[in-house]
Amino acid sequence: MPKSCDTMVALPSATKENQTIFAKNSDRPATECQPLVQRARETHPVDASTKCQFVELPEVTTTYRHIGSRPYWCWGYEHGFNEHQVVIGNEGLASKYEFDSPKLIGMELIRLGLERAETAAEAVTAMTELITKYGQGKFSNDQGVRTYDNGYIIADPKEAYILQTAGHEWAVKQIQGAVGISNVYSLEEDWDRLSPNGINEAIAQGWWTDTSARFNFSEAYSREADRSVGSGAMRRKRSCAVLSKYTGNIELQTMMALLSDHSDGSKPDEPFQTEILSGTSICVHHDDKGEGGNTAASLVAHLCDDGSRLPVYWCSFYSPCLAVFLPIFIEGELPQVLAIGDETPSDDSPWWLFRQLSLKLRLEEPELIPTVQAKWQEFQTQLLTTAYEIAKEGKFLIERGCENTANQLLTRYMAENVETMLETVRGLLSDVEQSIEMAAD
Ligand SMILES: [Zn+2]
Repeated sequence: MPKSCDTMVALPSATKENQTIFAKNSDRPATECQPLVQRARETHPVDASTKCQFVELPEVTTTYRHIGSRPYWCWGYEHGFNEHQVVIGNEGLASKYEFDSPKLIGMELIRLGLERAETAAEAVTAMTELITKYGQGKFSNDQGVRTYDNGYIIADPKEAYILQTAGHEWAVKQIQGAVGISNVYSLEEDWDRLSPNGINEAIAQGWWTDTSARFNFSEAYSREADRSVGSGAMRRKRSCAVLSKYTGNIELQTMMALLSDHSDGSKPDEPFQTEILSGTSICVHHDDKGEGGNTAASLVAHLCDDGSRLPVYWCSFYSPCLAVFLPIFIEGELPQVLAIGDETPSDDSPWWLFRQLSLKLRLEEPELIPTVQAKWQEFQTQLLTTAYEIAKEGKFLIERGCENTANQLLTRYMAENVETMLETVRGLLSDVEQSIEMAAD
């Protein structure tokens, strides 16, 4: 199954409230559980090292507090955010490289960026230095890990960057306005910075011959000669068209709707499509056997640069169109139940409950989909109000040095919402199961 994902960002100038909004759908194999985990800020001895899955590297003295959406087997994340409002999401890409030697995994670079940076620019520096030294991309391994090259959006409240990689090489471009990326190389001649060896390496490999022209990163390194076709290209056209249409007016709900969108991208300007299809769309659904790819987790990060509130990180499990975006505050303690889940289906794991709900609904009771969506919408509407009240109150307390009170407030708020979410998803599952039994009688 090809890896698919979509990441987008709208900088303050493109949004209605002048605050950066970042969004990502992580699309993964349909049964690959992706829990949400929080890690505290830590200090490390000077000679400490970090053990990633295939590579060990020197640790830094401080790793920042962060939350990441973690495929259960992986050290790294599909997307995440840290205590400094640095947000990162990735996209699988296919370069011309295939390595035999171990490299970093793209998701590990997300975690390394979150641990090591106070701004998006610092994360770009940290990640590109690691990529130059340790590399990433497609490499053979006996652990059965599917590896690939990566593209990223790295954002903070003021700036955002696209980083695209091929092996040890990379290109970076600072984003203006709003943009989406997908599973297709999109930095052509418009890069701002390249890896030190980016051009010479491409020439040495015979992938770049026209040395008088401005270097085209995608042309040299992408496996796809035609980057205007294919699922990634269609989804990128769609996200860019929607962001461009709403530019100056982009809101949190625009990004939530875009992550739940089922347009196949053939009419990139069309209104949001709510009817679930299998095939190419930003909200990816498993096939009619429950297999293939599916959106595993989503994030809409609503950053804040004016000190009026805390940033609000809206996280959803499995298909965003059949679930709810929960407001998460990194200044509080993430409910630990959200971190439960591995390869075995379990009723204790929120992720697996949402997977079950999607499976039963779509395979057996599709007529109940609107009822389920209405139930989530009701809860979502409540959360959209309460979250911003809490975000203001939390900021007010922290500004006055009452960090502990803020932490307790945010922790309690998140715990209550998670309880309601779990009650609701269990209730919906039991309604769907009852309806299936009645149909069988
Ligand atoms: Zn959907």
